[in-house]
Amino acid sequence: MYDYDLLVVGSANADLVIGVDRRPGAGETVLGSDLALHPGGKGANQAVAAARLGARTALLARVGDDAHGRLLLDSQRDAGVDTAAVLVGGAPTGVALITVDPSGDNSIVVSPGANGHLTPKDIRAASALLAASRVVSAQLEIPLETVVEVVRGLRPGTRFVLNPSPPRELPEDVLAACDPLILNEHEARVVLGVDTGDTPEQWAEALLARGPRSVVVTLGADGALVADTAGSARVPSVKVDAVDTTGAGDAFTAALAWRLGLGESLAEAAAYAARVGAAAVTREGAQASFPTAEEVAAL
Ligand code: ATP
Repeated sequence: MYDYDLLVVGSANADLVIGVDRRPGAGETVLGSDLALHPGGKGANQAVAAARLGARTALLARVGDDAHGRLLLDSQRDAGVDTAAVLVGGAPTGVALITVDPSGDNSIVVSPGANGHLTPKDIRAASALLAASRVVSAQLEIPLETVVEVVRGLRPGTRFVLNPSPPRELPEDVLAACDPLILNEHEARVVLGVDTGDTPEQWAEALLARGPRSVVVTLGADGALVADTAGSARVPSVKVDAVDTTGAGDAFTAALAWRLGLGESLAEAAAYAARVGAAAVTREGAQASFPTAEEVAAL
């Protein structure tokens, strides 16, 4: 009945990464390593993660008419993502300029570029794609008004999943549509806006009171917490040797959204997503680290 298991509406960025001995201060120039260029952005990452697991996945995003945009489109297509709805032009492709020092601490400057030009009108023009998708997921690296339009355009029966990153307070109608709202500790505190305690159970309870039908709090190496009106439960993590946690949250969210669409319960889908997140941290990079279903099964 649905053409797509998952439609990801979100950002696509070129990540430009330079290793440095020391991150520069104001007015300072430092020499760094050779430049590494990686496809990134939360929307693009989620779409690649889902497609690599075998989900029929489409991406609704905007990139520039430039080399970075072509790199992003290629990486989506290589993973098997349908990119027919990716819009091109309006501004340069979004870029994240990242410097990383030997301790792993980084400084990041993001130019949203074309991501900031994905408009509510673009969402209305893609109404057939929304109707053809079992689950729709979004993040906040595109304008909030665009996410609001996604929520308005949802058909009855379509499941909506939101990772509010970068976090901000959210309008009631967006919160009410989330099933689930997926967020980490920092995001939970910002979305809540007030201190509601120190445990994931307390954040989840306070978040549920704002309207989402379900909430998932990701807890890094400690796994996750799932919560809905029936109660909450911890989802243990899978023990692995973590090499690089970049993109783990995106892989987790994509896997969870896909498995919910297959009819799994929140706890079942989160247990699978925890395996996907764990697999992703065993390899370097974001998209490059995302596992196939076979790799998840072998974990
Ligand atoms: P990011 O923004 O860095 O992508 P996040 O903070 O949104 O990540 P995390 O909680 O770090 O998300 O990771 C998502 C999920 O991946 C966790 O809930 C967990 O299941 C899994 N995971 C993350 N780190 C580890 C780890 N070190 N060992 C095992 N599983 C992990």
